[in-house]
Amino acid sequence: MPAISVFDIFKIGVGPSSSHTVGPMKAARAFADSLGDQRAAVSGIRVTLYGSLAFTGKGHATDSAVLLGLCGDMPETIDPDAAERKLRDIHSSCEIDVPGIGPLPFDPSADLVFEFAEVLPRHTNGMRFDALDSSGKVVRSDDYYSIGGGFIVRGDEPEVQNQQGEPPYPFDSGAGLLKLAQDADLTIPQLVYRNESHWRSTAEVDERLAQIWSAMKSCVDRGLKTEGVLPGRMAVPRRAAKLCRRLQERDDNSGLDTMDWVNAYAIAVNEENAAGGRVVTSPTNGAAGVIPAVLHYYDRLIPDSDDAGVRRFLLAAGAIGILYKINASISGAEMGCQGEVGVACSMAAAGLVAAFNGSSLQIENAAEIGMEHNLGLTCDPVGGLVQIPCIERNAMGAVKAINAARLSLHGDGSHKVSLDQVINTMRQTGLDMSTIYKETSQGGLAVNVPEC
Ligand code: SF4
Repeated sequence: MPAISVFDIFKIGVGPSSSHTVGPMKAARAFADSLGDQRAAVSGIRVTLYGSLAFTGKGHATDSAVLLGLCGDMPETIDPDAAERKLRDIHSSCEIDVPGIGPLPFDPSADLVFEFAEVLPRHTNGMRFDALDSSGKVVRSDDYYSIGGGFIVRGDEPEVQNQQGEPPYPFDSGAGLLKLAQDADLTIPQLVYRNESHWRSTAEVDERLAQIWSAMKSCVDRGLKTEGVLPGRMAVPRRAAKLCRRLQERDDNSGLDTMDWVNAYAIAVNEENAAGGRVVTSPTNGAAGVIPAVLHYYDRLIPDSDDAGVRRFLLAAGAIGILYKINASISGAEMGCQGEVGVACSMAAAGLVAAFNGSSLQIENAAEIGMEHNLGLTCDPVGGLVQIPCIERNAMGAVKAINAARLSLHGDGSHKVSLDQVINTMRQTGLDMSTIYKETSQGGLAVNVPEC
């Protein structure tokens, strides 16, 4: 059974995309690190991007991510200002400084290839890294895949597990999770907490949950204050700060202010993401606004909310994310947007029920509702940018998650469609979906909306 932690699902990274920015940066860094003894023979590097990475890589900053990864940067520690300078230097000097090797000639317009005609066998988000000697001969070549949510794999190797050993309550299905919780007389958050404490101390679990929540709050705060337009040819104006001001100044409460605030929180995060800012991948960057928005709803708008509720939220939401990762995919390039915003909605709905101390059955029910009404959701970003429809879509996903949680909390947890059935349906729908709706910007809004 795969050993996946909630901290594999929630990671602090940079925008705009977990699969097209975070994953490629990690892959480029992994390739540079793996050269080892071959470094002395390397005189050049060539990178080829395939499939969805070729089609939407420019809009998703895959090209910049790969260059920075080759320079040794990682998404969780990168300094965005220094990264800008590094990228400018690479483009002006046509040289790249690879750790352990030193400066190599690298002309991004020739050595970074977007291959539109071919797809590598394992996943549409494929990358090939070639290390070349002074005569241009390949001394090492590795394929990497960015398989969604910032996870990467090399060639046909199995996915590397970040967690060592089986936790006390291993689960790979919704039904299994419910049974384990019932047999052990634990709530779902308690069960997940015990699993996490198997891989690290309880103090570290608490600290990392607090870090995730703190990073989400910082992201929302920045997004609610920052004005201007987003990067890209469309010059999309940022809206979150304006919406926040209007809500603060308004004295007539329409009764729907809560929904306006949830919209503002989600849009704030996804505007930060679109601008390449620091976000929590949850479970992806394109869908990074849903969970923080619903958590802010709980934290700021629900009387008597507390930090323990926030922890229950993250643990339960993480468990649901693990189920999608194991049984389907959290990659928009494989599943369409149902695999990103749909999964985030399902996770957030479950998390909110847990924060409200709902039962395990109600948590599972909320997760199921959160996905059932996102089935078939396509990915068709205009201009290949993670902006339209992505930013508003997170607001819609957050509102839908709150509604799913409420529907579940008004029931007793009994329902006809199980979470496992809906996850399986999402997977099948994703497989059946045309590739033009899977992060290629070849269909839907991407071809019907002019870019400027
Ligand atoms: S449409 Fe959805 S899946 Fe596609 S890039 Fe936007 S958020 Fe990601």
